Amino acid sequence: MVHIDEKLEPILAEVLRRNAGEEEFHQAVKEVLESLGRVVAKHPRYANHALIERLCEPERQIIFRVPWIDDSGQVRINRGFRVQFNSALGPYKGGLRFHPSVNVGIIKFLGFEQTFKNALTGLPIGGGKGGSDFNPRGRSEGEIMRFCQSFMTELHRHLGEYTDVPAGDIGVGAREIGFMFGQYKRLTNRYEAGVLTGKGLVYGGSRARTEATGYGATYFVQSMLATKKHSFDGKRVVVSGAGNVAIYAMKKITEFGGKVVACSDSNGCVVDEKGIDLAVVKEIKEVQRERIAEYARRKGSSARYIEGGSIWDVPCDVAMPSATQNELTGKDARTLVHNGIVALGEGANMPCTPEAVRVFQEAGVMFGPGKAANAGGVATSALEMQQNASRDSWTFEQTEARLANIMRDIHDRCAETAAEYGAPGDYVLGSNIAGFVRVAEAMEAFGVI
Ligand code: NDP
Repeated sequence: MVHIDEKLEPILAEVLRRNAGEEEFHQAVKEVLESLGRVVAKHPRYANHALIERLCEPERQIIFRVPWIDDSGQVRINRGFRVQFNSALGPYKGGLRFHPSVNVGIIKFLGFEQTFKNALTGLPIGGGKGGSDFNPRGRSEGEIMRFCQSFMTELHRHLGEYTDVPAGDIGVGAREIGFMFGQYKRLTNRYEAGVLTGKGLVYGGSRARTEATGYGATYFVQSMLATKKHSFDGKRVVVSGAGNVAIYAMKKITEFGGKVVACSDSNGCVVDEKGIDLAVVKEIKEVQRERIAEYARRKGSSARYIEGGSIWDVPCDVAMPSATQNELTGKDARTLVHNGIVALGEGANMPCTPEAVRVFQEAGVMFGPGKAANAGGVATSALEMQQNASRDSWTFEQTEARLANIMRDIHDRCAETAAEYGAPGDYVLGSNIAGFVRVAEAMEAFGVI
């Protein structure tokens, strides 16, 4: 079991004290600090000038009121957030999440993770994250539009293609990005395409951005499997969630010859031994915006729906948790190990609890952490920014080829870094150190700011 180096302990203690009650943020910082002991031992200068302390403190945190009017004429109030975590490598970059569970601690954990993830891509992007405790479920299109417009009415003054460039996340897809971009354009009277990513194709979006996170995570797992002479071919795979990341992970896994036998939403999971029929999932989730239970109703006897059941009880060779944080516990990990899992790639951010990660690593399961495995989304967002800046538009094949290369590079950089620091095969350590070193080099160059 990894411990925090004694030099770094006071930093963690201060983060816990200063951000009381923000459990997800504590969890994310602790995991990174556990990895950094080895870097500080080798390169003590990284601990100078409170560099690590500064890295744990967001550069700016914005919290604002979002008033909007529902379809019955009632005024509703939500809370909006943008945490601009670190801009050492480029403009703040990271998604917006609309979900009732959102609070400042969750946004901070996501912004912190994003800083390392974005560094790992090798592209010039800093880290940030935002969102609202607004619950889009059951809301009409008009309500969603009015909410997005009100949210952007405050947020727009903090954004800009050289300042902060949000994208989507849970509850924010192409429709919401469209409403927000429209409002930004109207408020600023500027067609500044590079201010948001995940845009529609006709107004500056990039081909393959929608697919990028799920595809990228699958490429990452493919690279991990290849190190042990495995492939997806013939493997049973379980993917949690049924949103953007899950859908395109399932698509690429199937293309690679794997068989996805289960997926889920927050109410329950569906198991289909014939292989999940993606066209049906897409129709239910992307078009009709219904519950995954509907899948079993449509598919009849080949599929079963388990209300409230754990998707991790379904035996598989590869798992890709792609729904939300801490959705896979130590107990779930032990079940998966018992059922013979060989590899896991985190499509979501921090979906495995620290105990689950430990169980996988001790059992020798190849484990791809989210900050490396799901970096394909933000990497393709950076490619969208490149296309916007050059007023160009690439083909799907060109963009996907760039994504595949980036994911291979991220995999190799994590693997090489882990080996260099004496922990071959430990992608958690490799990703934390490789991401940290890039951010730290830039922060060092800037002096104390
Ligand atoms: P979506 O909103 O498109 O989908 C989220 C899916 O997860 C939905 O099916 C949702 O079900 C399900 N879900 C949410 N909470 C739970 C839960 N507690 N248990 C089971 N299922 C749940 O979001 P994304 O696919 O965009 O994001 C998924 C994850 O991937 C998040 O962790 C996000 O931060 C991460 N990510 C996303 C990127 C992107 O480009 N979109 C990039 C990198 C990471 P329901 O409808 O019931 O809520």
